[in-house]
Amino acid sequence: MPVQKATERVNNFGEVALGYDEKMAVEEANRCIQCKKPTCIKGCPVGVKIPEFIQLIKEKKVPEAVSKIKEKNSFPAICGRVCPQENQCEKYCVLAKKKAPVAIGRLERFAADYMLDNREESYEVPSDTGYKVAIVGAGPAGLTCAADLAKLGHKVTIFEALHVPGGVLMYGIPEFRLPKNIVKTEIENLKKLGVEIELNYVVGMLDTVDELLEQGYNAVFIGTGAGLPYFMNIPGENLNGVYSANEFLTRTNLMKAYDFPNNSTPIKVGEKVAVIGAGNVAMDAARTALRLGAKESYIVYRRSQEEIPARHEELEHAVEEGVQLKLLISPTEIHGDKNGWVKGMTCINYELGEPDASGRRKPIAIKGSEHYFSIDTVVMAIGQGPNPLVLKTTPGLELNKYGNIVANENGQTSKQGVFAGGDIVTGAATVILAMGAGRKAAKAIDEYLKTISNN
Ligand SMILES: Cc1cc2nc3c(=O)[nH]c(=O)nc-3n(C[C@H](O)[C@H](O)[C@H](O)COP(=O)(O)OP(=O)(O)OC[C@H]3O[C@@H](n4cnc5c(N)ncnc54)[C@H](O)[C@@H]3O)c2cc1C
Ligand code: SF4
Repeated sequence: MPVQKATERVNNFGEVALGYDEKMAVEEANRCIQCKKPTCIKGCPVGVKIPEFIQLIKEKKVPEAVSKIKEKNSFPAICGRVCPQENQCEKYCVLAKKKAPVAIGRLERFAADYMLDNREESYEVPSDTGYKVAIVGAGPAGLTCAADLAKLGHKVTIFEALHVPGGVLMYGIPEFRLPKNIVKTEIENLKKLGVEIELNYVVGMLDTVDELLEQGYNAVFIGTGAGLPYFMNIPGENLNGVYSANEFLTRTNLMKAYDFPNNSTPIKVGEKVAVIGAGNVAMDAARTALRLGAKESYIVYRRSQEEIPARHEELEHAVEEGVQLKLLISPTEIHGDKNGWVKGMTCINYELGEPDASGRRKPIAIKGSEHYFSIDTVVMAIGQGPNPLVLKTTPGLELNKYGNIVANENGQTSKQGVFAGGDIVTGAATVILAMGAGRKAAKAIDEYLKTISNN
Protein backbone atom coordinates (compact mmCIF):
# COMPACT_ATOMS: atom_id res chain seq x y z
CA MET A 1 0.00 0.00 0.00
CA PRO A 2 1.38 3.47 -0.77
CA VAL A 3 2.68 5.37 2.26
CA GLN A 4 3.94 8.90 2.86
CA LYS A 5 7.75 8.92 2.64
CA ALA A 6 9.34 8.56 6.08
CA THR A 7 11.43 11.73 5.71
CA GLU A 8 8.32 13.77 4.89
CA ARG A 9 5.76 12.23 7.23
CA VAL A 10 7.95 12.72 10.28
CA ASN A 11 7.34 16.46 9.84
CA ASN A 12 3.56 16.28 9.68
CA PHE A 13 0.57 14.65 11.35
CA GLY A 14 -0.98 13.52 8.03
CA GLU A 15 -1.92 9.86 7.62
CA VAL A 16 1.06 7.58 6.99
CA ALA A 17 -0.64 4.81 4.99
CA LEU A 18 -2.44 6.28 2.00
CA GLY A 19 -4.81 3.43 1.10
CA TYR A 20 -5.63 1.51 -2.07
CA ASP A 21 -7.20 3.03 -5.16
CA GLU A 22 -9.88 1.01 -6.93
CA LYS A 23 -7.45 -0.73 -9.32
CA MET A 24 -5.20 -1.88 -6.46
CA ALA A 25 -8.20 -2.98 -4.42
CA VAL A 26 -9.69 -5.08 -7.22
CA GLU A 27 -6.27 -6.59 -7.93
CA GLU A 28 -5.85 -7.54 -4.28
CA ALA A 29 -9.44 -8.81 -4.02
CA ASN A 30 -8.76 -11.06 -7.01
CA ARG A 31 -6.13 -12.90 -4.96
CA CYS A 32 -8.87 -14.23 -2.68
CA ILE A 33 -9.74 -17.76 -3.80
CA GLN A 34 -13.19 -17.67 -2.12
CA CYS A 35 -12.56 -20.70 0.08
CA LYS A 36 -15.56 -22.95 0.67
CA LYS A 37 -14.62 -23.08 4.35
CA PRO A 38 -13.19 -19.60 4.89
CA THR A 39 -10.73 -19.81 7.76
CA CYS A 40 -10.25 -16.03 7.72
CA ILE A 41 -13.68 -15.48 9.33
CA LYS A 42 -12.63 -17.54 12.36
CA GLY A 43 -9.89 -15.03 13.03
CA CYS A 44 -12.28 -12.05 13.07
CA PRO A 45 -13.59 -11.29 16.59
CA VAL A 46 -16.87 -9.97 15.14
CA GLY A 47 -17.24 -12.53 12.35
CA VAL A 48 -17.22 -10.19 9.32
CA LYS A 49 -18.28 -12.16 6.20
CA ILE A 50 -14.88 -11.66 4.63
CA PRO A 51 -15.05 -13.65 1.36
CA GLU A 52 -18.48 -12.19 0.60
CA PHE A 53 -17.36 -8.58 0.94
CA ILE A 54 -14.16 -9.30 -1.01
CA GLN A 55 -16.22 -10.85 -3.82
CA LEU A 56 -18.29 -7.65 -4.00
CA ILE A 57 -15.10 -5.59 -4.31
CA LYS A 58 -13.98 -7.88 -7.15
CA GLU A 59 -17.26 -7.01 -8.85
CA LYS A 60 -16.70 -3.30 -8.10
CA LYS A 61 -19.87 -3.25 -6.01
CA VAL A 62 -18.31 -1.18 -3.26
CA PRO A 63 -21.46 0.13 -1.50
CA GLU A 64 -22.72 -3.46 -1.32
CA ALA A 65 -19.35 -4.55 0.08
CA VAL A 66 -19.64 -1.96 2.86
CA SER A 67 -23.19 -3.04 3.66
CA LYS A 68 -21.91 -6.61 3.94
CA ILE A 69 -19.15 -5.58 6.35
CA LYS A 70 -21.57 -3.43 8.37
CA GLU A 71 -23.78 -6.44 9.03
CA LYS A 72 -21.12 -7.32 11.62
CA ASN A 73 -18.91 -4.26 12.09
CA SER A 74 -20.36 -0.76 12.40
CA PHE A 75 -17.01 1.04 12.04
CA PRO A 76 -15.01 -0.47 9.14
CA ALA A 77 -12.99 2.67 8.32
CA ILE A 78 -11.60 2.54 11.85
CA CYS A 79 -11.00 -1.22 11.99
CA GLY A 80 -9.46 -1.22 8.52
CA ARG A 81 -6.80 1.08 9.95
CA VAL A 82 -6.07 -0.05 13.50
CA CYS A 83 -7.03 -3.72 13.82
CA PRO A 84 -4.09 -6.08 14.28
CA GLN A 85 -5.14 -8.08 11.20
CA GLU A 86 -1.82 -9.90 11.12
CA ASN A 87 -2.89 -11.73 14.30
CA GLN A 88 -6.53 -12.09 13.32
CA CYS A 89 -8.24 -12.66 9.94
CA GLU A 90 -5.07 -12.45 7.85
CA LYS A 91 -3.24 -14.90 10.08
CA TYR A 92 -5.88 -17.50 9.24
CA CYS A 93 -6.13 -16.78 5.51
CA VAL A 94 -5.16 -19.98 3.66
CA LEU A 95 -2.80 -18.06 1.41
CA ALA A 96 -0.68 -17.18 4.47
CA LYS A 97 0.64 -20.77 4.50
CA LYS A 98 2.59 -20.24 1.29
CA LYS A 99 2.71 -16.50 0.51
CA ALA A 100 1.24 -13.20 1.65
CA PRO A 101 -2.32 -13.48 2.97
CA VAL A 102 -5.05 -11.45 1.30
CA ALA A 103 -4.76 -7.89 2.68
CA ILE A 104 -8.21 -8.08 4.27
CA GLY A 105 -7.75 -5.00 6.47
CA ARG A 106 -6.66 -2.84 3.56
CA LEU A 107 -9.64 -3.98 1.50
CA GLU A 108 -11.95 -3.18 4.41
CA ARG A 109 -10.41 0.27 4.65
CA PHE A 110 -10.71 0.83 0.89
CA ALA A 111 -14.42 -0.02 0.86
CA ALA A 112 -15.21 2.08 3.95
CA ASP A 113 -13.25 5.09 2.69
CA TYR A 114 -14.99 4.90 -0.68
CA MET A 115 -18.33 5.29 1.10
CA LEU A 116 -17.10 8.10 3.33
CA ASP A 117 -15.76 9.97 0.29
CA ASN A 118 -18.53 9.31 -2.20
CA ARG A 119 -21.82 8.54 -0.57
CA GLU A 120 -24.09 9.86 2.10
CA GLU A 121 -25.33 6.71 3.84
CA SER A 122 -29.00 6.56 4.67
CA TYR A 123 -30.18 5.05 7.92
CA GLU A 124 -33.55 3.64 8.74
CA VAL A 125 -34.59 4.55 12.25
CA PRO A 126 -36.79 1.70 13.52
CA SER A 127 -39.96 2.34 15.50
CA ASP A 128 -39.41 3.12 19.17
CA THR A 129 -39.69 0.15 21.57
CA GLY A 130 -40.19 2.50 24.51
CA TYR A 131 -37.10 1.23 26.33
CA LYS A 132 -34.25 3.53 27.37
CA VAL A 133 -30.64 2.43 27.71
CA ALA A 134 -27.78 4.50 29.16
CA ILE A 135 -24.26 3.88 27.90
CA VAL A 136 -21.35 5.11 30.01
CA GLY A 137 -18.34 5.95 27.84
CA ALA A 138 -18.19 6.75 24.12
CA GLY A 139 -15.25 4.50 23.17
CA PRO A 140 -15.52 1.69 20.62
CA ALA A 141 -17.33 -0.59 23.13
CA GLY A 142 -19.98 2.00 24.04
CA LEU A 143 -20.43 3.25 20.48
CA THR A 144 -20.94 -0.26 19.08
CA CYS A 145 -23.35 -1.19 21.84
CA ALA A 146 -25.26 2.05 21.17
CA ALA A 147 -25.42 1.42 17.41
CA ASP A 148 -26.78 -2.09 17.81
CA LEU A 149 -29.36 -1.10 20.42
CA ALA A 150 -30.53 1.88 18.35
CA LYS A 151 -30.97 -0.39 15.31
CA LEU A 152 -33.31 -2.48 17.46
CA GLY A 153 -35.45 0.56 18.23
CA HIS A 154 -34.31 1.29 21.79
CA LYS A 155 -33.72 4.88 22.90
CA VAL A 156 -30.00 5.19 23.63
CA THR A 157 -28.13 7.96 25.43
CA ILE A 158 -24.34 7.87 25.74
CA PHE A 159 -22.75 9.72 28.67
CA GLU A 160 -19.14 10.68 27.93
CA ALA A 161 -16.72 12.33 30.35
CA LEU A 162 -14.65 14.11 27.69
CA HIS A 163 -15.69 16.96 25.42
CA VAL A 164 -15.56 14.69 22.35
CA PRO A 165 -16.82 11.16 21.82
CA GLY A 166 -14.57 8.33 20.53
CA GLY A 167 -12.52 7.30 23.57
CA VAL A 168 -9.00 6.17 22.68
CA LEU A 169 -9.84 6.53 18.99
CA MET A 170 -9.88 10.30 19.56
CA TYR A 171 -7.54 10.94 22.47
CA GLY A 172 -5.01 8.10 22.16
CA ILE A 173 -4.38 6.88 18.62
CA PRO A 174 -2.64 9.70 16.71
CA GLU A 175 -3.98 11.46 13.62
CA PHE A 176 -1.18 9.95 11.50
CA ARG A 177 -2.64 6.46 12.09
CA LEU A 178 -6.33 7.28 12.41
CA PRO A 179 -7.54 10.64 11.05
CA LYS A 180 -9.99 12.17 13.48
CA ASN A 181 -12.40 13.15 10.68
CA ILE A 182 -13.01 9.48 10.05
CA VAL A 183 -13.95 8.85 13.68
CA LYS A 184 -16.13 11.98 13.67
CA THR A 185 -17.97 10.89 10.50
CA GLU A 186 -18.59 7.41 11.88
CA ILE A 187 -20.01 8.99 15.05
CA GLU A 188 -22.22 11.37 13.02
CA ASN A 189 -23.61 8.30 11.24
CA LEU A 190 -24.39 6.81 14.64
CA LYS A 191 -26.34 9.94 15.61
CA LYS A 192 -28.44 9.48 12.46
CA LEU A 193 -29.75 6.32 14.11
CA GLY A 194 -31.14 8.51 16.88
CA VAL A 195 -28.39 7.94 19.47
CA GLU A 196 -27.92 10.95 21.76
CA ILE A 197 -24.51 11.79 23.20
CA GLU A 198 -24.16 13.85 26.39
CA LEU A 199 -20.60 15.19 26.53
CA ASN A 200 -18.65 16.48 29.55
CA TYR A 201 -20.79 14.12 31.61
CA VAL A 202 -18.71 12.28 34.18
CA VAL A 203 -20.81 9.42 35.49
CA GLY A 204 -20.03 8.92 39.16
CA MET A 205 -19.62 12.68 39.65
CA LEU A 206 -22.88 13.92 38.13
CA ASP A 207 -25.17 10.89 38.26
CA THR A 208 -24.22 7.42 39.44
CA VAL A 209 -25.22 4.25 37.60
CA ASP A 210 -27.94 3.66 40.22
CA GLU A 211 -29.25 7.19 39.70
CA LEU A 212 -29.44 6.61 35.94
CA LEU A 213 -31.53 3.49 36.61
CA GLU A 214 -33.74 5.47 39.01
CA GLN A 215 -34.22 8.14 36.33
CA GLY A 216 -35.91 5.60 34.06
CA TYR A 217 -33.12 3.96 32.08
CA ASN A 218 -34.06 0.29 31.88
CA ALA A 219 -30.45 -0.88 31.51
CA VAL A 220 -26.95 0.57 31.69
CA PHE A 221 -23.86 -0.48 29.70
CA ILE A 222 -20.49 0.48 31.21
CA GLY A 223 -17.70 0.96 28.66
CA THR A 224 -15.34 3.22 30.54
CA GLY A 225 -12.11 1.70 29.21
CA ALA A 226 -8.64 1.51 30.69
CA GLY A 227 -7.70 5.14 30.97
CA LEU A 228 -5.69 5.06 34.18
CA PRO A 229 -1.98 5.07 33.33
CA TYR A 230 0.50 2.90 35.23
CA PHE A 231 3.80 4.26 36.49
CA MET A 232 6.95 2.37 37.49
CA ASN A 233 7.13 3.75 41.04
CA ILE A 234 10.78 4.71 40.67
CA PRO A 235 12.37 7.87 42.11
CA GLY A 236 11.99 10.99 39.97
CA GLU A 237 8.67 10.14 38.31
CA ASN A 238 7.12 13.36 39.64
CA LEU A 239 9.68 15.59 37.86
CA ASN A 240 8.58 18.06 35.18
CA GLY A 241 8.99 16.41 31.80
CA VAL A 242 7.71 12.98 32.89
CA TYR A 243 4.40 12.21 31.17
CA SER A 244 2.14 9.23 31.05
CA ALA A 245 1.61 8.22 27.42
CA ASN A 246 -2.07 9.00 27.93
CA GLU A 247 -1.37 12.59 28.93
CA PHE A 248 1.27 13.05 26.23
CA LEU A 249 -1.03 11.74 23.49
CA THR A 250 -4.16 13.48 24.80
CA ARG A 251 -2.38 16.82 24.86
CA THR A 252 -1.33 16.28 21.27
CA ASN A 253 -4.34 14.56 19.69
CA LEU A 254 -7.22 16.12 21.50
CA MET A 255 -5.86 19.44 22.67
CA LYS A 256 -3.62 20.13 19.65
CA ALA A 257 -0.50 20.91 21.67
CA TYR A 258 1.49 20.81 18.42
CA ASP A 259 -0.27 24.06 17.44
CA PHE A 260 0.67 26.03 20.58
CA PRO A 261 0.01 28.97 21.13
CA ASN A 262 -2.87 28.93 18.57
CA ASN A 263 -4.24 26.20 20.78
CA SER A 264 -3.60 26.83 24.44
CA THR A 265 -2.15 23.45 25.50
CA PRO A 266 1.63 23.52 25.92
CA ILE A 267 3.88 20.47 25.60
CA LYS A 268 7.61 20.36 26.13
CA VAL A 269 9.59 17.60 24.47
CA GLY A 270 13.13 18.99 24.32
CA GLU A 271 15.68 17.26 22.08
CA LYS A 272 15.80 13.73 23.52
CA VAL A 273 12.70 11.76 24.44
CA ALA A 274 12.67 8.30 26.05
CA VAL A 275 9.45 6.30 25.87
CA ILE A 276 9.37 3.45 28.35
CA GLY A 277 7.53 0.40 26.95
CA ALA A 278 7.12 -1.09 23.48
CA GLY A 279 3.41 -1.61 22.80
CA ASN A 280 1.27 0.29 20.30
CA VAL A 281 0.88 3.09 22.84
CA ALA A 282 4.66 3.44 23.17
CA MET A 283 5.16 3.49 19.38
CA ASP A 284 2.49 6.18 19.06
CA ALA A 285 4.20 8.30 21.73
CA ALA A 286 7.72 7.86 20.26
CA ARG A 287 6.53 8.78 16.76
CA THR A 288 4.51 11.71 18.09
CA ALA A 289 7.63 13.00 19.90
CA LEU A 290 9.50 13.20 16.57
CA ARG A 291 6.61 15.07 14.99
CA LEU A 292 6.65 17.51 17.91
CA GLY A 293 10.26 18.34 17.12
CA ALA A 294 12.37 15.97 19.22
CA LYS A 295 15.73 15.28 17.55
CA GLU A 296 16.06 11.83 19.13
CA SER A 297 13.24 9.55 20.22
CA TYR A 298 13.93 6.23 21.96
CA ILE A 299 11.88 3.16 22.78
CA VAL A 300 13.31 1.88 26.05
CA TYR A 301 12.31 -1.77 26.54
CA ARG A 302 13.54 -4.38 28.97
CA ARG A 303 13.05 -7.32 26.61
CA SER A 304 14.43 -7.90 23.09
CA GLN A 305 12.98 -6.95 19.71
CA GLU A 306 11.39 -10.38 19.36
CA GLU A 307 9.10 -9.74 22.34
CA ILE A 308 7.97 -6.25 21.27
CA PRO A 309 4.17 -6.32 21.58
CA ALA A 310 3.39 -3.46 19.15
CA ARG A 311 1.96 -4.26 15.74
CA HIS A 312 4.72 -5.19 13.33
CA GLU A 313 3.70 -2.44 10.88
CA GLU A 314 3.80 0.23 13.60
CA LEU A 315 7.27 -0.84 14.75
CA GLU A 316 8.50 -0.82 11.15
CA HIS A 317 7.04 2.64 10.51
CA ALA A 318 8.52 3.95 13.76
CA VAL A 319 12.02 2.71 12.90
CA GLU A 320 11.77 4.10 9.35
CA GLU A 321 10.93 7.48 10.86
CA GLY A 322 14.02 7.40 13.05
CA VAL A 323 12.77 6.06 16.38
CA GLN A 324 15.70 4.26 18.01
CA LEU A 325 15.33 1.04 19.98
CA LYS A 326 17.15 0.78 23.31
CA LEU A 327 16.54 -2.87 24.10
CA LEU A 328 17.18 -4.95 27.20
CA ILE A 329 17.35 -1.89 29.44
CA SER A 330 15.01 -0.14 31.86
CA PRO A 331 15.22 2.98 34.05
CA THR A 332 15.71 2.68 37.80
CA GLU A 333 15.70 6.40 38.58
CA ILE A 334 14.91 9.66 36.80
CA HIS A 335 17.11 12.68 37.59
CA GLY A 336 16.16 16.34 37.49
CA ASP A 337 18.01 19.66 37.19
CA LYS A 338 17.87 22.39 39.83
CA ASN A 339 14.53 23.62 38.45
CA GLY A 340 12.92 20.21 38.72
CA TRP A 341 13.03 19.32 35.01
CA VAL A 342 14.16 15.92 33.76
CA LYS A 343 17.80 15.78 32.68
CA GLY A 344 18.56 12.06 32.61
CA MET A 345 17.86 8.55 33.84
CA THR A 346 19.83 5.79 35.47
CA CYS A 347 19.20 2.62 33.48
CA ILE A 348 20.09 -0.99 34.13
CA ASN A 349 20.74 -3.68 31.53
CA TYR A 350 18.69 -6.86 31.30
CA GLU A 351 19.16 -10.37 29.94
CA LEU A 352 16.44 -12.87 29.12
CA GLY A 353 15.80 -15.95 31.23
CA GLU A 354 13.22 -18.74 30.96
CA PRO A 355 9.69 -17.98 29.67
CA ASP A 356 7.37 -16.48 32.32
CA ALA A 357 3.58 -16.66 32.77
CA SER A 358 3.13 -14.45 29.67
CA GLY A 359 5.01 -17.04 27.60
CA ARG A 360 7.74 -14.52 26.87
CA ARG A 361 11.29 -14.91 28.18
CA LYS A 362 11.60 -13.25 31.55
CA PRO A 363 13.81 -10.14 31.74
CA ILE A 364 16.48 -10.40 34.46
CA ALA A 365 18.38 -7.31 35.60
CA ILE A 366 22.17 -7.56 35.28
CA LYS A 367 23.74 -6.45 38.56
CA GLY A 368 26.28 -3.67 38.29
CA SER A 369 25.23 -2.64 34.76
CA GLU A 370 23.71 0.69 35.84
CA HIS A 371 24.55 3.57 33.53
CA TYR A 372 23.43 7.13 32.90
CA PHE A 373 21.28 8.14 29.96
CA SER A 374 20.88 11.86 29.36
CA ILE A 375 17.34 12.76 28.33
CA ASP A 376 14.91 15.75 28.33
CA THR A 377 11.55 13.99 28.46
CA VAL A 378 10.31 10.63 29.72
CA VAL A 379 7.01 9.12 28.57
CA MET A 380 5.70 6.16 30.56
CA ALA A 381 3.88 3.68 28.30
CA ILE A 382 3.92 0.56 30.44
CA GLY A 383 0.17 -0.08 30.50
CA GLN A 384 -3.14 1.28 31.74
CA GLY A 385 -5.70 0.13 34.29
CA PRO A 386 -9.44 0.64 34.74
CA ASN A 387 -10.94 4.09 35.23
CA PRO A 388 -12.02 3.79 38.88
CA LEU A 389 -14.78 6.39 39.34
CA VAL A 390 -17.80 4.43 38.10
CA LEU A 391 -16.56 1.31 39.86
CA LYS A 392 -16.28 3.08 43.21
CA THR A 393 -19.70 4.68 42.95
CA THR A 394 -21.62 1.58 41.86
CA PRO A 395 -22.29 -0.66 44.85
CA GLY A 396 -22.87 -4.33 44.08
CA LEU A 397 -20.58 -4.35 41.04
CA GLU A 398 -18.14 -7.27 41.35
CA LEU A 399 -14.55 -6.51 40.37
CA ASN A 400 -11.62 -8.88 39.81
CA LYS A 401 -8.18 -8.61 41.43
CA TYR A 402 -7.01 -6.16 38.76
CA GLY A 403 -9.96 -3.86 39.46
CA ASN A 404 -11.79 -4.75 36.22
CA ILE A 405 -15.52 -5.44 36.14
CA VAL A 406 -16.48 -9.10 36.28
CA ALA A 407 -18.96 -9.79 33.47
CA ASN A 408 -20.04 -12.96 31.73
CA GLU A 409 -19.46 -13.49 28.00
CA ASN A 410 -22.64 -11.55 27.24
CA GLY A 411 -21.53 -8.60 29.30
CA GLN A 412 -23.93 -9.19 32.22
CA THR A 413 -22.38 -7.96 35.49
CA SER A 414 -23.20 -8.96 39.05
CA LYS A 415 -25.78 -6.16 39.12
CA GLN A 416 -29.18 -6.62 37.51
CA GLY A 417 -29.70 -4.47 34.43
CA VAL A 418 -26.05 -3.41 34.37
CA PHE A 419 -23.83 -4.66 31.55
CA ALA A 420 -20.18 -3.95 30.74
CA GLY A 421 -17.62 -4.57 28.00
CA GLY A 422 -14.37 -3.46 26.41
CA ASP A 423 -11.17 -2.60 28.27
CA ILE A 424 -13.03 -2.06 31.55
CA VAL A 425 -13.73 -5.82 31.59
CA THR A 426 -10.74 -7.31 29.74
CA GLY A 427 -8.04 -4.83 30.72
CA ALA A 428 -6.27 -2.89 27.94
CA ALA A 429 -6.92 -4.85 24.71
CA THR A 430 -7.94 -3.92 21.17
CA VAL A 431 -10.54 -1.83 19.36
CA ILE A 432 -12.16 -4.81 17.69
CA LEU A 433 -12.43 -6.77 20.93
CA ALA A 434 -14.10 -3.77 22.56
CA MET A 435 -16.50 -3.53 19.62
CA GLY A 436 -17.21 -7.26 19.81
CA ALA A 437 -18.01 -6.92 23.52
CA GLY A 438 -20.30 -3.95 22.85
CA ARG A 439 -22.11 -5.98 20.22
CA LYS A 440 -22.60 -9.06 22.45
CA ALA A 441 -23.82 -6.86 25.30
CA ALA A 442 -26.33 -5.11 23.01
CA LYS A 443 -27.83 -8.49 22.15
CA ALA A 444 -27.97 -9.46 25.83
CA ILE A 445 -29.48 -6.09 26.81
CA ASP A 446 -32.17 -6.51 24.14
CA GLU A 447 -33.02 -9.94 25.55
CA TYR A 448 -33.03 -8.52 29.09
CA LEU A 449 -35.41 -5.72 28.08
CA LYS A 450 -37.82 -8.29 26.67
CA THR A 451 -37.85 -10.08 30.03
CA ILE A 452 -38.83 -6.86 31.79
CA SER A 453 -41.77 -6.43 29.43
CA ASN A 454 -42.91 -9.93 30.34
CA ASN A 455 -43.01 -9.12 34.04
C1 LIG B 1 -2.30 5.13 22.31
C2 LIG B 1 -3.11 3.90 22.07
C3 LIG B 1 -2.95 3.23 20.87
C4 LIG B 1 -3.70 2.09 20.62
N1 LIG B 1 -3.55 1.47 19.41
C5 LIG B 1 -4.38 0.43 19.09
C6 LIG B 1 -4.34 -0.17 17.80
O1 LIG B 1 -3.55 0.20 16.93
N2 LIG B 1 -5.20 -1.18 17.54
C7 LIG B 1 -6.10 -1.62 18.45
O2 LIG B 1 -6.91 -2.50 18.14
N3 LIG B 1 -6.14 -1.09 19.70
C8 LIG B 1 -5.30 -0.07 20.04
N4 LIG B 1 -5.36 0.48 21.29
C9 LIG B 1 -6.29 -0.09 22.29
C10 LIG B 1 -7.74 0.33 22.01
O3 LIG B 1 -7.79 1.68 21.67
C11 LIG B 1 -8.62 0.03 23.22
O4 LIG B 1 -8.57 -1.36 23.45
C12 LIG B 1 -10.08 0.44 22.96
O5 LIG B 1 -10.18 1.82 22.68
C13 LIG B 1 -10.97 0.10 24.17
O6 LIG B 1 -12.26 0.59 23.93
P1 LIG B 1 -13.26 0.93 25.13
O7 LIG B 1 -14.52 1.40 24.47
O8 LIG B 1 -13.32 -0.21 26.04
O9 LIG B 1 -12.56 2.10 25.93
P2 LIG B 1 -12.01 3.56 25.56
O10 LIG B 1 -11.64 3.69 24.14
O11 LIG B 1 -10.97 3.83 26.59
O12 LIG B 1 -13.25 4.49 25.85
C14 LIG B 1 -13.75 4.68 27.15
C15 LIG B 1 -14.51 5.99 27.20
O13 LIG B 1 -15.16 6.09 28.47
C16 LIG B 1 -15.05 7.41 28.94
N5 LIG B 1 -15.22 7.41 30.40
C17 LIG B 1 -14.37 6.92 31.33
N6 LIG B 1 -14.88 7.13 32.58
C18 LIG B 1 -16.07 7.76 32.40
C19 LIG B 1 -17.08 8.26 33.31
N7 LIG B 1 -16.94 8.16 34.62
N8 LIG B 1 -18.18 8.86 32.78
C20 LIG B 1 -18.34 8.99 31.43
N9 LIG B 1 -17.40 8.54 30.55
C21 LIG B 1 -16.29 7.93 31.02
C22 LIG B 1 -13.65 7.83 28.49
O14 LIG B 1 -13.52 9.24 28.47
C23 LIG B 1 -13.60 7.21 27.10
O15 LIG B 1 -14.10 8.08 26.11
C24 LIG B 1 -4.60 1.60 21.59
C25 LIG B 1 -4.71 2.25 22.83
C26 LIG B 1 -3.99 3.39 23.07
C27 LIG B 1 -4.13 4.09 24.40
S1 SF4 C 1 -9.10 -17.54 3.80
FE1 SF4 C 1 -8.06 -15.97 2.52
S2 SF4 C 1 -8.35 -16.73 0.44
FE2 SF4 C 1 -9.81 -17.88 1.70
S3 SF4 C 1 -11.72 -16.70 1.61
FE3 SF4 C 1 -10.61 -15.91 3.38
S4 SF4 C 1 -9.44 -14.15 2.56
FE4 SF4 C 1 -10.09 -15.37 0.78
